[in-house]
Amino acid sequence: MSALMDQARTLDAADPISGARELFDLPEGVVYLDGNSLGALPKATRKQLAQVVDAEWGRDLIRSWNTADWIGMPQRIGGKIAPLIGAHANEVIACDSVSVNLSKLIGAALAMRPGRTVVLSEPGNFPTDLYMVQGSSAEQRLAARDKIIEALDEDVALLMLTHVHYKTGEMFDMVALTKAAHDAGALVLWDLSHSGGAVPVDLNGAGADLAVGCGYKYLNGGPGAPAYAFVAKRHHEALQNPISGWMGHAAPFAFSDEYAPAPGVSRLLAGTPPVLAMAALECGVELMADIGMGPLVAKSRALSEFFRAAMSEHCPELVCVSPVDPAARGSQLSYRHEEAYALCQALIARGVIGDFRDPDILRFGFAPVYVRFEDGALAVEALAEILASGEWEREEFRQRAAVT
Ligand SMILES: *Cc1c(COP(=O)(O)O)cnc(C)c1O
Repeated sequence: MSALMDQARTLDAADPISGARELFDLPEGVVYLDGNSLGALPKATRKQLAQVVDAEWGRDLIRSWNTADWIGMPQRIGGKIAPLIGAHANEVIACDSVSVNLSKLIGAALAMRPGRTVVLSEPGNFPTDLYMVQGSSAEQRLAARDKIIEALDEDVALLMLTHVHYKTGEMFDMVALTKAAHDAGALVLWDLSHSGGAVPVDLNGAGADLAVGCGYKYLNGGPGAPAYAFVAKRHHEALQNPISGWMGHAAPFAFSDEYAPAPGVSRLLAGTPPVLAMAALECGVELMADIGMGPLVAKSRALSEFFRAAMSEHCPELVCVSPVDPAARGSQLSYRHEEAYALCQALIARGVIGDFRDPDILRFGFAPVYVRFEDGALAVEALAEILASGEWEREEFRQRAAVT
């Protein structure tokens, strides 16, 4: 056994949450470093979906809206996400996609800051975040990371940032930027898609106004899982949802002709919750909430530091573009290489699944709940062999699929 593998196994043996991997169904022979794009399948999800399909839908039919409390899922699951992001249970709701929640909260923020028309963000933010501003009535302003604070003026209604950058893993100082936005009279919206379940987040500690986050990444909610939205309690009264659907009505089953918003964060709902998808999300969220962020964060940092050290020793030709301080990055490491796409494909052919982000980034995510130090060692050893052998140069590793 290599010295690297030896070290990895010692670290796994001392890992207090190593047992959590057993809660997942992971295929044999696969090193999965892409939980930041699609979380793995919890064993409980398979059982729970069978129960929801067979007993709740199949047998109890429409009665399940009440008997299985399908109708309460958005609030119930939101309440379970809340402690992972430093929010109160009644400030978070699970619904829609991140994109749709962004659209609702951008609209709501503009209405709360009359006379201000600008949404400030950074170039290179996750595309859907920018597209949602472009499709709104707001004017978009982009400022590079180190120029954001000076770009906050009396026209800015909303500062909208992604807390952990999807490509580089860089993490914003939530406290400092939230304060700067407030000092300029703006609201702030944090996209927690790469943060929730991966890094410490304290929305209320930072005084954040609004947030959204993803259900299918670190929360292991399943492909296309519903997302979540946060609204600080102090804004509940004023919040107007521009997608004013019946599920966000104060009394949906009164079937009134006039819209009247539900109290609290429930008014962010629009249509009927996708019950099967919500059931899967709930299993993923419960699993993470049971472990709690403390051990997950400690493991994430140890794991990524182990990987970073191994990469600089065994694959020095790849340039790490993520912050070297683990407290300043998400649960991922990104490397730049001209042939990142082909390297990624060659790794996948060996059962090591990371991902590629255009044009030249090879990205490895460390979902702390199921990734082992051994996985890190296997990935670095595979990559070192691929680089040494030149096997990535094969034609098949250059074909691009629809999803990269
Ligand atoms: C994954 C991700 C999304 C996903 O948006 P969907 O509408 O749920 O597809 C949005 N923002 C960021 C920053 C992401 O990483």
